[in-house]
Amino acid sequence: MTTTKHTYDSVAARDQYIPRGLANTHAIFVARAEGSRLWDADGREYLDFTSGIGVLNAGHRHPRVVAAVREQLDRLTHTCFQITMYEPYVELAARLCQLIGGGDGTTHKTVLFTTGTEAAENAVKIARAHTGRSAVVAFSGGFHGRTLLSLTMTTSSPSYRQNFGPFAPEVYHAPYPDEYRDLTTERAMDALEHLFHSQLTPSSVAAVIVEPELGEGGFVPAPPEFLRRLRDLTTRHGIVMICDEVQSGFGRTGKMFGYQHAGIEPDLVMLAKSLADGLPLSAVTGRAAIMEAPAAGGLGGTYAGNPLSCAAALAVLDVFEDERLVDRAVALGDQLRAALLDIQKDAPRIGDVRGLGCMLAIELVRDRKTKEPDADEADRIVAGCRREGLLLLKCGPYKNVVRFLPPLTTTPQEMAKGIEILKKVVRESSLSA
Ligand code: PMP
Repeated sequence: MTTTKHTYDSVAARDQYIPRGLANTHAIFVARAEGSRLWDADGREYLDFTSGIGVLNAGHRHPRVVAAVREQLDRLTHTCFQITMYEPYVELAARLCQLIGGGDGTTHKTVLFTTGTEAAENAVKIARAHTGRSAVVAFSGGFHGRTLLSLTMTTSSPSYRQNFGPFAPEVYHAPYPDEYRDLTTERAMDALEHLFHSQLTPSSVAAVIVEPELGEGGFVPAPPEFLRRLRDLTTRHGIVMICDEVQSGFGRTGKMFGYQHAGIEPDLVMLAKSLADGLPLSAVTGRAAIMEAPAAGGLGGTYAGNPLSCAAALAVLDVFEDERLVDRAVALGDQLRAALLDIQKDAPRIGDVRGLGCMLAIELVRDRKTKEPDADEADRIVAGCRREGLLLLKCGPYKNVVRFLPPLTTTPQEMAKGIEILKKVVRESSLSA
């Protein structure tokens, strides 16, 4: 790893004491962050369009979130909700039920956890308890976490799975539609039907889990028709439909949740990341009848729904309403999409510009006709942008997709600055290639 002189010792210590399995995208030690910007240990400023992998939709240290956490810190930091209760947990559960179920939220129930992977594991537990069935169908390119069951459902890259098997039983995979690579909704649905005629029957399936737009898998949005047909099929067979909104949720796609683009209502919704603006918190919100399936004692976790995280999440929900962050996601996304399409005109290696709302990415290819993935070009762009003060992230099974996850509080001026940097780096990279 190379970095600036000041942080050299920290990097050496990092390499000495932390295993390589935990890889770092950027060799930067962050000293401070605010809004869409962060500063490294040398005081160098960066525009952060990674948002800590889509966690900071309300921006780094939103003042209202900081104030809410401070206030909570002075009252109570932990009891474990299973032991003694506290109000922010219940208040947050009610608000998530209202947000997802509509009205007064009484059609739904919510249980809180700490990480996205726990939300995935528990959503499947709830679906199995409800249906009395065991099989789960997940989609190619999906990412649902790094613990055993969620890792088994994850196929966005072999680097996550390595030789960590044997994996959990009763998890099946079907193709996720990818219009750029000619995998249509029709073909994806045919493959799912084929799975049901070759490996298992729908009557043995507890749950289908799907991201409305693949995150780690390359920012591939599901065609609304695909999600609608999946909803029909799961309803027909009594299968629980789980939408993983861990990355696509909280305004990122230009709607509060990605599934809303298809006009469907999932049975269970997984939330994490931007739910609490950087404090660890996740949730499963779903139809009450399904959520009630596990008997008392079946759900929980020592830190699950920590009071500080609940206070942060309540402030996040207020910020979303008061600062109209979903509308801002649409405007920011429009600004970025127009710029990316413009940059693509003179950059033959940008094969595709895609995504919903402000969940946008460019796919780099060696040749637009063959669509051969170009991970090196993606690396050059990420490294070049970092040198110029813009932090980006890659994704996709071929590691050739550069994704943009700016906080939704990013100003149009900050977005314009990020776009200028990208434009310069892409231009220089295509001249040198
Ligand atoms: N689901 C999706 C869609 C994700 O993007 C992630 C994290 N990248 C997870 C689940 C897992 O979340 P966590 O890392 O908090 O366990």
